[in-house]
Amino acid sequence: MGPLSLTLSVVVPIYNEEAVLPLLVERLRPVLDELREPYEVVAVDDGSSDGSAAVLIGLARLWPELRIVRLRRNSGHQAALSAGLFRSRGEYVASIDADLQDPPEKIPEMLRLARTENLDIVYGVRTDRSTDNRFKRWTAGAYYDLIRRLVGKNVPRHAGDFRLLSRSTVEALRELPERAPVLRLMVPWIGFPSGQVTYTRAERAAGQTKYPLRKMLLLAVDSVTSFSAAPLRLATWLGVGGVGLCALLLVMTMVVYLSGHTVPGWSSLFVATLFIGAVQLLCLGLLGEYVGRVYTAVQNRPPYFIASDSAALAAEDDGLV
Ligand code: UDP
Ligand code: MG
Repeated sequence: MGPLSLTLSVVVPIYNEEAVLPLLVERLRPVLDELREPYEVVAVDDGSSDGSAAVLIGLARLWPELRIVRLRRNSGHQAALSAGLFRSRGEYVASIDADLQDPPEKIPEMLRLARTENLDIVYGVRTDRSTDNRFKRWTAGAYYDLIRRLVGKNVPRHAGDFRLLSRSTVEALRELPERAPVLRLMVPWIGFPSGQVTYTRAERAAGQTKYPLRKMLLLAVDSVTSFSAAPLRLATWLGVGGVGLCALLLVMTMVVYLSGHTVPGWSSLFVATLFIGAVQLLCLGLLGEYVGRVYTAVQNRPPYFIASDSAALAAEDDGLV
């Protein structure tokens, strides 16, 4: 089988999703079978600790196109996605969450659009987030506003990780040596011809979200620091503002001193000390974010380890490797 004899790969990152996996297969399989084209589904088991691995093996027995890539430990959504992308073999590669919040039925539409308009990237854009709670909607809105301001206007709003990429886009992504990859920003940054399909974000089919607030914040910090040095400049401006304020306080102190009044002085000193301390801490924190990135870049550790890949195992059985 040549590397591009598959027209489509569908990458699904999976972390403790035993409850949704059967539902996912039930909906995804008919959609893909109906295409009547050779495809593969790359299920990336991101070090699940529940029964997901066993469920996947059971499902793959009945569905030969289902390929299981197992990571040795939980490496995070973005790392799992990249693992799937870089191991996929299709001419086009779609990525979709396991929990059926993104409708699999849209994948053929994405494929059609990419082909007819010769696009490299087709984003799935959420038009309706009413199933997300108010907090999630608000934080998501703030996230995309901030990102578009810092990274650029070609980052589509409310486009998560449900999208279709051409093989050449995947190969281009491989050239970005990111240690903490944020694919939804790396893809628009590459800037290949793109289009969109819209969809309504559904309720999670089963199970719990794997994205608590802590992980959402980490994704936001990674997003900003991997694409923009603007916060560092902000630190500079804060510093400039702080110095200006101090100069003003100095003049005031001089005036009061020269006018001969005894100055209690305590409050102004205290305020100034606090203020400078705050500005310094803030700037240190910001610097730390970037130094941290340099640190991980210098360490150059792989973001994930592959434990097994059912396609590679099958090839081995056939004496191909
Ligand atoms: N996921 C993953 N590794 C993680 C966390 C999540 O592979 O460490 C997968 C998860 O199984 C799902 C997708 O990433 O397929 C999106 O996660 P989730 O639906 O929990 O996020 P939400 O939709 O709540 O933002
Ligand atoms: Mg979800």
